Amino acid sequence: MLPNLTVFHDPSISYNVVEKVVEELKITYEIGIQLIKRRELEIVTFNKARNQYNGQQLLNMLIDEENITYFLWLVNEDLYVPERNFVFGLATQFYGGIVSFFRLESENMKIKESLHECGHILGLGHCKEVCVMQYSKNLEEAILKPTYLCWKCKILLKETEKKIDKNKD
Ligand SMILES: [Zn+2]
Ligand SMILES: [Zn+2]
Repeated sequence: MLPNLTVFHDPSISYNVVEKVVEELKITYEIGIQLIKRRELEIVTFNKARNQYNGQQLLNMLIDEENITYFLWLVNEDLYVPERNFVFGLATQFYGGIVSFFRLESENMKIKESLHECGHILGLGHCKEVCVMQYSKNLEEAILKPTYLCWKCKILLKETEKKIDKNKD
């Protein structure tokens, strides 16, 4: 089995949206949800000049403080990482990730980017097929990619699942 996911959310995100994202994560990845928890963004990670939060710092602080793996954090604020103007999200494989809803207006887009980061958390890289794991450098490209996983990524997930099960024995 793939590990259960803990979902954190910025308190400003409505619970209704969180629930919809969680539903789609469960369906796409056949994973369980350990816990849904509110978490505020640390103000020390806010860059005044850019008017954005540093996504990498937020991710690192959560990993340090919560001492958990397999988590996804949904936030409403705009995120950046050094050398990029903005990011829709970022993730560290087999640890956790963050998704920013700031530039995503529709519920469908919020779900899509959450599915994408969750794929990274579960070990998937970027994919060249018609797939939710396609890399998108801007909103236009993000809109074009589908909400589903391609067969190649599904096979990769099955392999990850087998490896995780083996390590448990
Ligand atoms: Zn990605
Ligand atoms: Zn794929």
